[in-house]
Amino acid sequence: MPIITLPDGNNIDFPNKVTGLDVAEKISKSLAKQAMIISVDGELKDLDYLIEKDCSVKIFTSKNPEGLETIRHDTAHILAMAVQELFPGTQVTIGPVIENGFYYDFARKEPFTEDDLIKIEDKMKEIVDRDEITKREVWDRNNAISHFKKKGEVYKAELIETIPEKEDVSIYFHGDWHDLCRGPHLSSTGKIGKYFKLTKVSGAYWRGDSNNEMLQRIYGTSWASQKDLDEYLKRIEEAEKRDHRKLGKEMDLFHFREESPGSVFWHERGWALFQKLINYMRSRQDAAGYKEVNTPEVLDRQLWEKSGHWGKYGDNMYTSETPDEKIFAIKPMNCPGHVQVFNQGLKSYRDLPLRYAEFGKVHRYEPSGALHGLLRVRAFTQDDAHIFCTEEQITSECLIVTNLILDIYKDLGFENVILKYADRPEVRVGEDEIWDKAEASLLKAVKASKLEYSINKGEGAFYGPKIEFVLRDAIGRDWQCGTLQVDLNLPQRLDASYIDKDGTKKIPVMLHRALFGSLERFIGILIENYAGKFPFWISPLQTMVIPISEEFNDYAAEVSNKIKSAGISSAVDLKNNNLNYKIRDHSLAKIPLLLICGKKEVDSKSVTIRRLDTNKQENMDLNLFLKTFSALNKASSN
Ligand code: ZN
Repeated sequence: MPIITLPDGNNIDFPNKVTGLDVAEKISKSLAKQAMIISVDGELKDLDYLIEKDCSVKIFTSKNPEGLETIRHDTAHILAMAVQELFPGTQVTIGPVIENGFYYDFARKEPFTEDDLIKIEDKMKEIVDRDEITKREVWDRNNAISHFKKKGEVYKAELIETIPEKEDVSIYFHGDWHDLCRGPHLSSTGKIGKYFKLTKVSGAYWRGDSNNEMLQRIYGTSWASQKDLDEYLKRIEEAEKRDHRKLGKEMDLFHFREESPGSVFWHERGWALFQKLINYMRSRQDAAGYKEVNTPEVLDRQLWEKSGHWGKYGDNMYTSETPDEKIFAIKPMNCPGHVQVFNQGLKSYRDLPLRYAEFGKVHRYEPSGALHGLLRVRAFTQDDAHIFCTEEQITSECLIVTNLILDIYKDLGFENVILKYADRPEVRVGEDEIWDKAEASLLKAVKASKLEYSINKGEGAFYGPKIEFVLRDAIGRDWQCGTLQVDLNLPQRLDASYIDKDGTKKIPVMLHRALFGSLERFIGILIENYAGKFPFWISPLQTMVIPISEEFNDYAAEVSNKIKSAGISSAVDLKNNNLNYKIRDHSLAKIPLLLICGKKEVDSKSVTIRRLDTNKQENMDLNLFLKTFSALNKASSN
C-alpha cells in the first residue's frame, strides 16, 4: 500500500489508500487544520485526492504561495457564485488568479455599479458562512458542452469546445453552483476566510479580442489574514499617492501627448533631473574605465538582419523607407552599433577588456494599451554598456559590474536588492564549454554580492546566461531594473575579433549591462520611491528664493546667482502672489529649500530657510549656507 515520501525525506507507510487530509493528520493535527491543498509527485491536487500508490507528497497551507493562490482562485469562484445569485441571467466566462488577487469576467447587459460591488461582497461573505462543500466531478466533454448550453452559459460552452475531443473535463461544485475548472480548490467555501475585497470594475473583450463582445471584469484581492489584507490595501493607497504621473504634473516634470504615444515631453525640471542622473552615471562610469560613445539611431535593415534583430524583434521595430528606396530601422537597442565601433581598427588582447558606454535613445513599439506613464514607454534612453573581453576576463568583469551596479543603487536610495540568475535554455548557441565558464563566472558574481538571489533554471537568453537586478522600493514593491548578460553570439555574428597572445584570431565575449535599464522608467520609479521628495543632491530644482516684497527683488536675485555659482540649482519667484501662496505652491512642487528674503536678510547678508515639510524656519548666514549645501550636493559615495 502507498509509501508516502515527505519533503524532509521521511516516509510514511499507509496500510490503505489515503487522502491528502489523512496524510496531514498523520503528521499533526494542526497541519491537518491548516492544510489547503497537496502536491502529488509535483502535481497540485485537492486535499481529498485519493492516493493509491507510492509517491512524494507536499502539503500546502496559506503560508505557501500555492496555498495563497488557491485562496484567490476560490475567491474568484465565490465571486461568480455571488454574482449569479444576485443577478440571475448573468453569464460567467473566465476568472483567473493574478498578482495579489483575481478577476472574473461576466456577460451582463446592465453595468455593475460601485454599490453592486458592496452587495456582491456581502453575498460572498454569506457564501463563506454557508460553508458549502466543494466537490470535483469529471464529465464527458460533449455532455459538459450540452449541459452549459442548456443552462444558457454560451461562453462556458464555447470554452469547453476548445478542449480536444475525447478529453474529459473537470467540474467543481461549491454546493449546487459549479464551474469548469482545473482546480485544485479548498474543501469548502468556509475555508477561504473573509479577507477579500472587490477593488474595481472595468471592460474586457471576450478572449481579449476587440472584435468580440465587451464583458465586465470585476477585480478583487484576497489574502490569508485580515492583517495581510489591510497591509495590501494600505500599500495601494500609498501607491496612488505616489503615482509618478500625478506627482510629475504637480512637480512640473513632464507630460505625454496623443501625437506621440509613449514618448515623454520633458519640462525644464524633469529634464534637469534626467541630466543629473546622466552626469552622475557619467562620472561613475568614467572612474570605472568606461569609454562613452554614441552610435546612430537609424541603421540599415541589413545590419539588423545580420544581428538577428530583424527576424526576432522585427514586430517591435520602427522602420522607414527613404526616397532612394532603402529600408532603415530606428534602433531598438545599441548592441550592434557598439560592435561596429569595436570593429574599427585591429584589436589585440592588450586592448581588452574594452568597455563602451552609451546613453542611447532607443524606440520599441508597444501596443498602446500597454503604455503606462514613464514606466512603460515607446521611446527611452538606456544607460547601456557593452564590455568586450576574453573568456578569462568574464569572472572579474562580472564582479566589477555587479559591485558598480549595487553601489550606484545605494547612492540612489535602494539598498534592498534581489538578484535573479538565469542559466542556459534548451535552445541556445555556443559550445557547452563556454556556457560552463560563463555561468560559473556570473554565479560567482551573484554569490560575491552576498544578496538574496533566485535561480531561474533554463531562463537565460539564447546567447548567454544573465543576472537581473530587482529593487525593492520604499513601500515594498519590486522593480526589475538592471541587467548583466553574457553574450557568446553577437560578436561572432557581426565578425568581431581580436588577436590573442599566441597571434591567433579570437572572438571576444560581449557583456551587455544596464543599471537603470531605461532612464525614463527609472525616474518614474525614483519619483514613486521618494514620493517626489528627492534627496537634496538629486532634486530637480533645489532652491527657490522668495522675496517677501518687491523691494527685496534685487537681493533675492543676487542670492540666487550666488547659489547657482556654487553649483546648486536655484530660481527666484518674482510673481505677484502672497508669501503663503508661494510657499504652498513650491511645497507642492517638492522643492527642498525655500529661501525667504526680507529686510532682516538683506541687513545681515543671510537667508531664512524653510525646508520641505516643516513649518520651522531658520536664519543662516549666506556664506555658511553656500558652504553647508555645497557639501550636501553630491551622492554619498563620491
Ligand atoms: Zn546590448
